[in-house]
Amino acid sequence: MKVVETAAELSRLRGKMTGPVGFVPTMGYLHEGHLVLVRQARAENALVAVSIFVNPTQFGPKEDFKQYPRDPERDLALLEGEGTDVVFMPPVEEIYPPGFDSWVEVGRLGRKLEGASRPGHFRGVATVVARLFELVRPDRAYFGQKDAQQLIVIRQMVADLDMNLEVVAVPTVREADGLAMSSRNTYLNPEERKQAAVLYQALTLAQRLYGEGERDAETIRRQMTVLIQRQPSADIDYISIADAETLEELDVVKPLALVSMAVKIGKTRLIDNIVLG
Ligand code: AMP
Repeated sequence: MKVVETAAELSRLRGKMTGPVGFVPTMGYLHEGHLVLVRQARAENALVAVSIFVNPTQFGPKEDFKQYPRDPERDLALLEGEGTDVVFMPPVEEIYPPGFDSWVEVGRLGRKLEGASRPGHFRGVATVVARLFELVRPDRAYFGQKDAQQLIVIRQMVADLDMNLEVVAVPTVREADGLAMSSRNTYLNPEERKQAAVLYQALTLAQRLYGEGERDAETIRRQMTVLIQRQPSADIDYISIADAETLEELDVVKPLALVSMAVKIGKTRLIDNIVLG
């Protein structure tokens, strides 16, 4: 496994690679959710590249960029165990050198849901992913369904800018009680960790109501809200039932609608989603 920190070194290595390259961009502090992406990339490509980069431009000024958990040594051991070929771990100046001044602006999709709560977030995401794609030049890139809107935004960018690669979506990996795995789960204290299971419970409730024939989106949102508000540490940012392509809110629920939410548990903001089936 080669570990590289500079764009120049990565480009040099890439020049020598033959066969399809699968790429998994991450912010590190890896868990099983990340490793499932790496495993799928490993199964489908001759070579696997993983990036570990906590991207400052996708964090708001009051967000957790500085506190974001980091453990590069452990990450590298895990990636080695999965048969990763190349790990790209650049310092910030390698991605954003002094004078860097070009951005990938995300339109309508980037202003909804997460983008409404976190202005500029998807501009940061799209810019870093475009930059990483240009350096890694993958044949396939793997993204988790956990960050459903990110996946939609990246697919749109790849189509709009004719980026020559396939975007592969990987299902969300969950803890035993349904909590979606996330590096940010480490912020939760034991009591909050218990209460955090309510996100998935609310998604399961939405699926059950839909399965029983409920089609009024507002009724489902309301019942989810009531369930979540029973947890004393929970503070809802948004609950959405939206078209999975346009992210427009629905009045009448339809198949494959995206049910998504952001909920603060104490000080920790968690997101999760399911697609109704
Ligand atoms: P992050 O390090 O949080 O930026 O995540 C890197 C990639 O891993 C993104 O494509 C995420 O959607 C994906 N990911 C994170 N958590 C999970 C999970 N629990 N299940 C599946 N994919 C995940």
